[in-house]
Amino acid sequence: MSEFKRVSNVLLQSNGIYFIECPGCKTLHPIHVGEQHRIRWDFNGNVNAPTFTPSLMVNQGHPSQCHSFITNGKIQFLSDCHHGLAGHTVDLLPVEEF
Ligand SMILES: [Zn+2]
Repeated sequence: MSEFKRVSNVLLQSNGIYFIECPGCKTLHPIHVGEQHRIRWDFNGNVNAPTFTPSLMVNQGHPSQCHSFITNGKIQFLSDCHHGLAGHTVDLLPVEEF
């Protein structure tokens, strides 16, 4: 049994929460979509080329801070990311079921 369900090449889902594999952090980032979540993102519904708004801020204020826009299956890293892809826009990484 897998806790994570692969819903497309680039998206996992677990307990109603989407996850992307971040090319900058090389870890999964959760994205909460749906009215049951107090803090949530809008999703264009395209699991193959997802757009989530507004921006995704991960580990704010920590050494691993990561700040991005995910648009049409690409992830644009803002300049306040602390990893090497700050300021770059790249394709989302393929995800693996596990
Ligand atoms: Zn990241």
